[in-house]
Amino acid sequence: MSEPCIFCDIIAGKTPARLLHEDEHVAAFADIRPVAPSHILIVPKKHYPTLLDAASAGERDLLGRLLEVAARIAAEHPGADRGFRITINNGASAGQTVYHLHLHLLSGRHFAWPPG
Ligand code: AMP
Ligand code: ZN
Repeated sequence: MSEPCIFCDIIAGKTPARLLHEDEHVAAFADIRPVAPSHILIVPKKHYPTLLDAASAGERDLLGRLLEVAARIAAEHPGADRGFRITINNGASAGQTVYHLHLHLLSGRHFAWPPG
């Protein structure tokens, strides 16, 4: 049996989330603990623990779709012209806590560089 996964449960409709986008391959929903005025997660419906897992499985199209959905949602955001940030935390030292690949789309405030 596969490991339980909170994002698979959201995709399956077993755990509630504020969905912003859904298609055959990708879902997007509001982060439960936002770190910016707008904090959206973009996830593949297929479970890959990390970016490296999806890349090494040859998921070029899927990775492109994730970025495309993130860009489309970002462009629709009222503050998009002032900037936004897309982040993938890959592995423990990068702060990954949920091992189902996801993009963070953050907007609505200034983001420092370099990140912490
Ligand atoms: P990361 O630390 O990059 O793995 O990001 C995981 C993100 O998932 C965090 O920002 C969490 O706040 C978020 N998260 C965890 N559980 C849920 C949930 N049930 N619904 C929405 N977001 C969640
Ligand atoms: Zn999953």
